[in-house]
Amino acid sequence: MVGATHVLDRTMSRRPRTRRLVTPGWFNKDMDHDVHALKETIDRLADAGPLVPADAESIEVLHRQFNRLEAVVTEATASFDASGDWAPDGAVNATGWLTERCHLARKHARAFVRRGRELRHLPEFARAWSNGDITAAHVDTVAGARNEVTQAVLERDETLLCDQATTLPYADFVKVVDYWKQRADPDGAEDEDEERKGRRDVCLEQSFGGMWLGQMTLDPISGAIVSDELSRLEHELFEADWAKAKDELGREPTIAELPRTSGQRRCDALVDMATRSKTAPADGRRPAPQFTVLVDYPTLAGRVCELAQGTVLAPGALLPWLDEAIIERAVFGPKSRVEVSETARLFTGATRRAIELRDRACTHPYCDRPASACQVDHIIPYVDGGPTTQENGRLLCGFHNRLRNQRPPPSA
Ligand SMILES: [Zn+2]
Repeated sequence: MVGATHVLDRTMSRRPRTRRLVTPGWFNKDMDHDVHALKETIDRLADAGPLVPADAESIEVLHRQFNRLEAVVTEATASFDASGDWAPDGAVNATGWLTERCHLARKHARAFVRRGRELRHLPEFARAWSNGDITAAHVDTVAGARNEVTQAVLERDETLLCDQATTLPYADFVKVVDYWKQRADPDGAEDEDEERKGRRDVCLEQSFGGMWLGQMTLDPISGAIVSDELSRLEHELFEADWAKAKDELGREPTIAELPRTSGQRRCDALVDMATRSKTAPADGRRPAPQFTVLVDYPTLAGRVCELAQGTVLAPGALLPWLDEAIIERAVFGPKSRVEVSETARLFTGATRRAIELRDRACTHPYCDRPASACQVDHIIPYVDGGPTTQENGRLLCGFHNRLRNQRPPPSA
């Protein structure tokens, strides 16, 4: 009986496609013509193969049109979902139908349907997406902040948030939404931080051939502590590998010429962490802050509360750490000034710290490597009389520091 049902279901889902017009108003006969024209355009682009325009400007245009098309497909899918036209094929829901007929992975099918439903509550975001100004990820981010508590405030603030989505880099937009959500639903934010902390989990088990396999899930603060130190040690090993390869080759090496991959260096760094931990007394004084968090003065509830890596935290998440906290006061004056050391060759002490706090990641626009993996670089080189001050300092990761040194300095 089960077998027969299965065969029937398969037969039904394989029957020849009949054109079915979806929700009235959105999809009609004119649209049918447009879909055909779209198909022909894509046919032409696909036939062009390697000749398809691939210069920087065309890539930007293609991605914008890709976003627009994704928005259109999502809205159409939402209408299809609402119409129930997936039911006659025997599908349980629209997700099941998409999985079978459109060959989508189930999680992608589910995301399509969910995003489509969310769009109904986010008219501004729907418009910006179909203009190609934002992506599906922006919609998911704001949809993730919508719940019963935040719904009314979201209606009020949607234009403002959408404006940020179209202008800020994506990572900054995520932060804006995180802060917005904290204000709209303070209790929910604290609960969410507790929940994130509860999900922490590390496992490490010996497997075939004696190899060890592991997996880590770390809450934002634990993750920042471990990741910062791992990345600091890995960076030291990278510098050592680079110097050794340069010495052997007599020129600047490429990444492929280094003796270890970045994964291998991270592994060696982790072993180093374990070795150091064993040799250090458990009650020894901690030499450096374990993580950096930016909190504004007026109040801990004052909603500037984020890890130096940029993850926004509910203030309550910090309480367990306050006993052993080293509180720094960094006053960002009109030109982000804290301390000057005009004569030093290297950025050290408070000047270095101030630049790390100000920039927080590699300042190259195409990069987001964290401060722990960056060097403080002179904007006007020291050899050209550039001072070792905050104004002339910036964070650059190793890659972008070297890139800059291979090119003539900017004329400005
Ligand atoms: Zn960089």
